[in-house]
Amino acid sequence: MPDIRIVNCHVHLFTDRHVPVNYPYRWLRPFRKLPGLIRWMAMLARLIGQHPIAEKLTRLGKFHNEARTPHQREILEHVRRHYPDNTRLVVLPMDMSAAGYGPSPTPLRRQHDELGELARDPELGRGVIPFATIDPRADPQAGELWRAIDRHGFRGVKIYPRLGFAPDDPRLMRHVYPQMERRGLPLMTHCSRGGVQGRHLPDLIADRYTDPMAYVPVMLAHPDLRICLAHFGGQRDWAAYVNPDRTRPLAEEYERNWQVMIRRMIGGGQWPGLWTDISYTLFHFEDYVPFLRLFLTGEEPEDARLRSRVLFGSDFYMTRQEELSEKAVCFRLRNALGEEVFRQIAQENPAIWLGEAEE
Ligand SMILES: [Zn+2]
Repeated sequence: MPDIRIVNCHVHLFTDRHVPVNYPYRWLRPFRKLPGLIRWMAMLARLIGQHPIAEKLTRLGKFHNEARTPHQREILEHVRRHYPDNTRLVVLPMDMSAAGYGPSPTPLRRQHDELGELARDPELGRGVIPFATIDPRADPQAGELWRAIDRHGFRGVKIYPRLGFAPDDPRLMRHVYPQMERRGLPLMTHCSRGGVQGRHLPDLIADRYTDPMAYVPVMLAHPDLRICLAHFGGQRDWAAYVNPDRTRPLAEEYERNWQVMIRRMIGGGQWPGLWTDISYTLFHFEDYVPFLRLFLTGEEPEDARLRSRVLFGSDFYMTRQEELSEKAVCFRLRNALGEEVFRQIAQENPAIWLGEAEE
C-alpha cells in the first residue's frame, strides 16, 4: 500500500498581530506584553505544590508563545515538525475586527497577503493550502475576500459565525456562497459552543449562529456547496455525550447535542454537501477516540456516509493548550482508527472536499 499523504484540514498560523489588543479583556492588555509572567506563575504554582494549575499555566504559556511569534512563517515551521514532509496543510486565517474588541494591529488584508506569499514560498509553501476569511460586517460586499482569492489563488473560505453573524447572513448569501458554489470552493466554519465569541454577544445568540441547523437555509439555497462544520460539534457537546450525568442540568447540549445532530444530518444522506472535521475536539484523545472509532467503522449505509464526510484536522496551534503533542495525537489516531479509515479521513476525503478529486 502506498504511503499516506496526509492533509490536515484545519491549521492556524495567524499571530498576536492579527488579534485585537483588547481581546479577550482590556485589563489583560498589559500581560500580553509580559511573556515571562505566565511562566513565572507556573513556577510559583509548582513551588507551592499546585501541580495541575502549574501544568495548565505551562500549556497556556506555550499557546501564547506560539501566537506571539512575529510571523506566520515561524508558526508554519513549528507545525511542520510534527508531520511527514509531504503533508499538506489547510491554513485558516481569522478576522476579529468586527467582533467588538477594536481593530487588530495588522489588518486582514495584510494577513491574507502574508499568507498568500507564504504559500508561494518555494520551500516552506510546499503543501500549504491557503483559505481566505470574511466577517460580513467588516467586508459587506466581500471585496477583500474575492481580491484575496483572485490575487493569491486561495482555495476556500473560512467563516466564524460565533463572532456575531448568522451563516445565512444576507451579505454572505448574496456576495459569497453563489460564487463559491460556481467555482467549487469549499467552506470551513467554526461549529462549537466554545472558541472566540463577539464581545457583546449573549451565549444563547452565539449558539444559534453556530448551531448545525443554522446551515439548513445555506444548504437549501446552495446544494452543491461543500460545508465543513469544524470540531464535530465541539468539546462541550462531546463531553455531554460521553458523560450523561447532568452536571449542568439546564445546559442545551444534553437535549440538542450537536455531535449527534451532525452525525444524523450527514448519516441521513439528506445533506450531501455537509462535512465535519475532528479538529481540537479529538485532542481529548483518551476520552473520545473509542466513540469516534465506533462511528467511523460501522457497516450500515449511514456509517459509510459519515465515514465519507469526516476530515482530519488538528486546530494547531490552539492544541498547544493540550497535554499531548500534535504528532502524538496524530499517531494515536492512526493507530486507533486503522490505516484504512485514517487514509480515508486524512487523504481521500480532503481531496474530495477541496474539489481536487471526484467522489
Ligand atoms: Zn480553528
